[in-house]
Amino acid sequence: MAIRHWIALLVTLSLLLPAIHASDGDADPIYRACMEHCEKTGCVGDKCFQHCKFTSDGKPIDGPWYMQEPLYLRWKQWDCRSDCRYHCMLTREEEREKGGDKPVKYHGKWPFRRVYGIQEPVTVAFSALSLAVQFHGWLSFFILLYYKLPLRPDKKTYYEYTGLWHIYGILAMNSWFWSAVFHCRDVEFTEKLNYSSAVALLGFNFILAIMRACNIRDEAARVMVAAPFVAFVTTHILYLNFYRLDYGLNMKVTVAMGVAQLLIWAVWAGVTHHPSRWKLWVVVVGGGLAMLLEIYDFPPYRGFVDAHALYHATSVPLTYLWWSFIRDDAEFRTSTLLKKAK
Ligand SMILES: [Zn+2]
Repeated sequence: MAIRHWIALLVTLSLLLPAIHASDGDADPIYRACMEHCEKTGCVGDKCFQHCKFTSDGKPIDGPWYMQEPLYLRWKQWDCRSDCRYHCMLTREEEREKGGDKPVKYHGKWPFRRVYGIQEPVTVAFSALSLAVQFHGWLSFFILLYYKLPLRPDKKTYYEYTGLWHIYGILAMNSWFWSAVFHCRDVEFTEKLNYSSAVALLGFNFILAIMRACNIRDEAARVMVAAPFVAFVTTHILYLNFYRLDYGLNMKVTVAMGVAQLLIWAVWAGVTHHPSRWKLWVVVVGGGLAMLLEIYDFPPYRGFVDAHALYHATSVPLTYLWWSFIRDDAEFRTSTLLKKAK
């Protein structure tokens, strides 16, 4: 039972989660000196930025008000400070690389190279791909249920989990959308939307795992099971948005919910005679491996591919297989119910 070992390992890892460490990069005196120089002169080396002709509160140092930052640039929050941070970081990382040093984090993030202003292009591409696969999966599920499988006389589906999977599809697409936006441009509101959507999806998946694995079909029982988890997830999202965006706490909450649902699916896959249970196994093992990437993040290779980018990459095939399992489940349940009815 290799899966048991995996789960044991994951649970142990989640308990040993290291506390979030301060970033080494922005504590570096050479980086600090570069920032100070840049904010005064607007230049890093021979590269100068027009944003730095303005003070941090947006007042121009020289020139009248209409010479201020164009609105679209202000919306993207590309101001003097973020330009200085980016270019001081690149310069410092180049020096460190020549000296044989490994990349370090700056202000809590790995040093990524921008492409056309996109901060993490590889991660954005995988998020967009996941969004596309998610949409395809959801659409094919919809077509299967309403156009291919027989419907009840009241035009409802025989499959009892239709509504739950629809909500899952919508929450997942919402989450991939905000993930792509956040990895394009990391500012406070995109970060909060990304974290909130991910937590909402994970929380709902957890409820869904309980419902499906325990075969809860009665409406009242569903409400009773879901209520405490909905309350917990809502509180956590409100806490992150309006009290404190605590990365360490959020990591613990998401890993705990992730491990718990993998356990539920794994146990169910072990006892059920479901014809597509192998797909469940692949998703559980793949999901576990992906979670390891999330926990042990390594710096970006050539400034582009880090552990989190690979984590997003694994989601693409797993999402495809997951929807394939959901479609199989719909067919399986429908044929079982039809056989019983005869
Ligand atoms: Zn992400």
